[in-house]
Amino acid sequence: MSSESDHKHNAACLELFAKLSEYLDQELEADTCEKIEQHLKECPPCRNCLQTLKRTVELCKAMGTKPVPSELSRRLRSMLEQLR
Ligand SMILES: [Zn+2]
Repeated sequence: MSSESDHKHNAACLELFAKLSEYLDQELEADTCEKIEQHLKECPPCRNCLQTLKRTVELCKAMGTKPVPSELSRRLRSMLEQLR
């Protein structure tokens, strides 16, 4: 059965998502970044979400506002739920 590994994959994604905004701000240690990049290589849904997150952050920067981390993680979580 594959439900077990699906669940594990989701847990990895959620863990990654919690760090994505720090990753974009380059606030993470090098080996954490590597772990995220490794996951992104193997996980197209997460790559899509990162693209969306990047756009959101750039949009906020262009408008001179700071992205709110809790708002970003809410968006990311709802995106992940749609992938299930
Ligand atoms: Zn993932």
